[in-house]
Amino acid sequence: HTPETVEVAIIGAGPAGAIAASLLQRQGKSVRVLEKQHFPRFSIGESLLPCCMQFLEEAGMLEAVNGAGFQFKNGAAFRRDGQTTQFNFTDKFTPGPGTTFQVQRAGFDKLLADTAQSQGVEIRYGETVEQIDLDGTPTLTVRNEQGQSYRLEAQYVLDASGFGRVLPKLLGLERPSNLSPRMAIFTHIEDKIDAVDFDRNKILISVHPQQKDIWYWLIPFSNGRCSLGVVAEPQLLAHLEGSLEEKLLAIVKEDPELKALLANASLVQECGTLQGYSVNVTQLATDKFALLGNAGEFLDPVFSSGVTIAMQSASMAVKCVLKQLDGQAVDWQAEYAAPLMQGVDTFRTYVQAWYDGSFQEVIFHPDPNPKIKQMICSILAGYAWDTNNPFVSESSRRLNTVVEICRQSQAEAAEAS
Ligand code: FAD
Repeated sequence: HTPETVEVAIIGAGPAGAIAASLLQRQGKSVRVLEKQHFPRFSIGESLLPCCMQFLEEAGMLEAVNGAGFQFKNGAAFRRDGQTTQFNFTDKFTPGPGTTFQVQRAGFDKLLADTAQSQGVEIRYGETVEQIDLDGTPTLTVRNEQGQSYRLEAQYVLDASGFGRVLPKLLGLERPSNLSPRMAIFTHIEDKIDAVDFDRNKILISVHPQQKDIWYWLIPFSNGRCSLGVVAEPQLLAHLEGSLEEKLLAIVKEDPELKALLANASLVQECGTLQGYSVNVTQLATDKFALLGNAGEFLDPVFSSGVTIAMQSASMAVKCVLKQLDGQAVDWQAEYAAPLMQGVDTFRTYVQAWYDGSFQEVIFHPDPNPKIKQMICSILAGYAWDTNNPFVSESSRRLNTVVEICRQSQAEAAEAS
């Protein structure tokens, strides 16, 4: 059989795939998205960052998202041992949107995919990519739900398959992450929170009172529900017994503040779990394929960076694909992989410092320097690619300096009292 042909084939219709498809379609390229599931489908990753609003705008999807009734979000709140601190994303160093949404991904991802489809993008649901042949023009083997396979030849392939990691698996590109393996247990709850100081416009990250590298997320939605989850190294949850639900409820009870906040809450969804999700790859792109979003690298959920990285990578890759389709040479390492990784590595600095406790010292410092806080706030709002921000361009050095200053001032305060 002669293969079917398209200019760009995209594996997966999540945020990375939908944005990439829309951006290519808007430039008149022929695109086919292959999505093995049917939407709506559940996905974890419900708290967005303001930076990602730029990519929704670029893809002509902002109006649809703004009108969908999602929960408004303007920042992040952190709690530890009775201390609360907040980052207001509008008070940041980098220009650009300062607010976003907290979304149930089933509906959000469907909205993006439907909007891309209404722009003319072809999405084939129920079609699974099973093989790739990279000799000559890239050719995918795709299987439909009737069990029939066909071949699809594309001048370029974008892998937006998320945790499916289709090309890394098929091409042997996977590499262990340098972050410790962790697990998450999560669910949705009818939260019935009546605490007056609870801000539904922010994600709440709570630190376990005894174990500083265990943390919980609470992400309010607009329908009286919240996403609730806990993240820890598996051995730190080994003392918990019973079903996932019993484990999650037991660990919530270990934090008196969270327990009180959720005193009237009830579960409305079966608990899910994911573990060992942090992964890395040996190569992000060649002149035949590029890995987007989670299909490339996934760090950690603590700063809600996943969807933003997915959309950022889609936007960056599409610029290179357009150039290549136009007959110009693209240096995929220099023009895609390196600039993408610069932002991912900025997040990595903060993720590592979160778990070794040093970034928590900065976050919970009682008297933060407002200018420094704005620069850190930019990163927490997703602007990890803004190299005008010294906390981006020299992320480790700057953060280490601030950690030192915080330690000194805490030591001085302790001495004085
Ligand atoms: P996905 O949204 O996963 O989409 C991939 C699509 O590819 C799927 O629909 C799948 O069906 C399809 N697919 C897979 N294999 C194939 C195949 N062989 N053929 C065809 N289609 C295929 N991110 C945030 O931004 N905010 C958060 O608060 C957040 N919390 C998180 C909490 C946890 C515990 C974890 C683990 C992650 C979290 N993330 C969060 C990360 C977020 O889930 C992902 O980064 C995001 O969903 C990535 O989007 P994507 O478009 O790359 O992939």
